[in-house]
Amino acid sequence: MAGEEHVEHYDFIVAGGGSAGCAVTAGLVQAGYRVALIEAGPDYGAHTDGKWPAELLNAGALADTHDWDYKAGRWLFQRARVMGGCSSHNGCIAAVGHRRDYDDWQLPGWSTRELEPVLSNVVKAMRVRTYTTDEAGPFHAKCLDAAESLGWRMGSDLCNLDANDGFGLEAVNVVGSTRWNSAFAYLDAVRSSPLLTIIDRAMVDRLNETGSVVELHLQRDGQTQTVRGDQLVLSAGVYGTPEILQRSGVGDPVHLQSLDIPVQVPSINVGNNLHDHPMVHADRRVGPELQQWLDEAARAGFVPEEQTLGKAVSSVAQDGLFDLHLFPVCANTQTSLLHGRVHVEVACMTPVSRGTLRINSRDPAAMSAIDHNYLGDDAGHDLAVLMDGVAIANDLLDQSELSALLGESLTDTRTEAGIRAHVAHYYHPVGTCAMGLAADAVCDARGRVRGLQRTTVADASLMPQIPRANTNLPSVMIGERIASFLVGG
Ligand SMILES: Cc1cc2nc3c(=O)[nH]c(=O)nc-3n(C[C@H](O)[C@H](O)[C@H](O)COP(=O)(O)OP(=O)(O)OC[C@H]3O[C@@H](n4cnc5c(N)ncnc54)[C@H](O)[C@@H]3O)c2cc1C
Repeated sequence: MAGEEHVEHYDFIVAGGGSAGCAVTAGLVQAGYRVALIEAGPDYGAHTDGKWPAELLNAGALADTHDWDYKAGRWLFQRARVMGGCSSHNGCIAAVGHRRDYDDWQLPGWSTRELEPVLSNVVKAMRVRTYTTDEAGPFHAKCLDAAESLGWRMGSDLCNLDANDGFGLEAVNVVGSTRWNSAFAYLDAVRSSPLLTIIDRAMVDRLNETGSVVELHLQRDGQTQTVRGDQLVLSAGVYGTPEILQRSGVGDPVHLQSLDIPVQVPSINVGNNLHDHPMVHADRRVGPELQQWLDEAARAGFVPEEQTLGKAVSSVAQDGLFDLHLFPVCANTQTSLLHGRVHVEVACMTPVSRGTLRINSRDPAAMSAIDHNYLGDDAGHDLAVLMDGVAIANDLLDQSELSALLGESLTDTRTEAGIRAHVAHYYHPVGTCAMGLAADAVCDARGRVRGLQRTTVADASLMPQIPRANTNLPSVMIGERIASFLVGG
């Protein structure tokens, strides 16, 4: 590609090489299509090339490089800008949620029965395994003991669609100590195919459908470039995909006109329905004996910060199913994030509050207005779930197995004011280009953008409602599923 003169043409263009984008790309290439994969961040090649930065490989701690730096108010909304997307810097917790989650979408092609084989394949491709008791670090071993003493059902079943509440060691997509991202899991298998062209460090600005082609305008090395395809798949994630649509004139006409963007498709819900699992924590100071154990464990080798997780049912759960995740986090010496403290993070897994994303400018480099509206629901559902969850977290920390090793609490999250002051997110934003059967849903049940002819979405933005799960595996599942729709499966 050089400037605007020479324009490549592909069967498919995939915009965004993240968790879902790598899966959709692999599916299309394997089906024999010529695909251009466009990614804003760098591509470090196959895992076996040995060029990936250490912090992206180290599954022991979240990586804080390669970030888009999205923010609003006191919140940072981490999103990775690198091949593999957020799967390349995330916590590697592997969960699929409960079967009710996908059935509740009530969309043809997305029932749990239809998704089960896809999710099984994702679990296999992402090389999911469960930590063993032997691997549990000193803090997490004590958390298991404390949970058992409290009477929790013990079980490691984050990838079991039928499991309800319980406490156990986490399932993770970690190989050795390596974060097994979706680029390793999916893209590496097709990297050598002549059908695949990877264009990295290229910012997708906007799309334009003209007759029989779709054009994608990129910014790369300070230049504007164009790629053309028969079809486009937007996999730029929960913030990136609605941003590209809005810059392209697909969105709420009032908003677009306020930015002088010509309206291509009036679609009022682009950027709406933004939600995540709101999260707060209970914390304690680390006592000297525990600190000594942690230092010894760190010297001995790989000590992940997160290894255990509890699922609990709050008093406001209508269906008797778990609506809380509680997961202890303990700093290791590789990061000073929680230095001297332990947390039990508490997340509401069935949030009702909804927020919005709106671009502020036609300039792709400009920061969007992101309003997550955490705990904003009128009935106070999300807050009530978190109040219950914080009480359960404090019970766990106060259990003798743990309290003997811990000091005082440092953050007040036992009250409504305390929760509101400290509420954050679980890194799981979804829903901004949701599928639905209604005429005003952004996408139809095959992920196709309503009002466009050649553009399909495949990423977490498609989820009408967040599952009771960490969202990486469900996002990869969406990539596989949309690929199968596109190749006619
Ligand atoms: C810090 C952190 C920890 C997390 N921990 C976990 C966990 O432990 N377990 C779990 O299940 N989930 C976790 N998640 C969430 C999970 O990783 C995401 O839900 C999932 O990766 C979303 O996948 P996606 O394909 O929708 O988007 P992404 O993976 O974000 O992919 C989007 C891709 O598009 C690219 N892109 C965006 N805009 C453009 C543009 N304009 N032009 C070109 N390219 C663009 C991005 O660079 C990115 O590569 C975590 C997330 C974060 C940030």
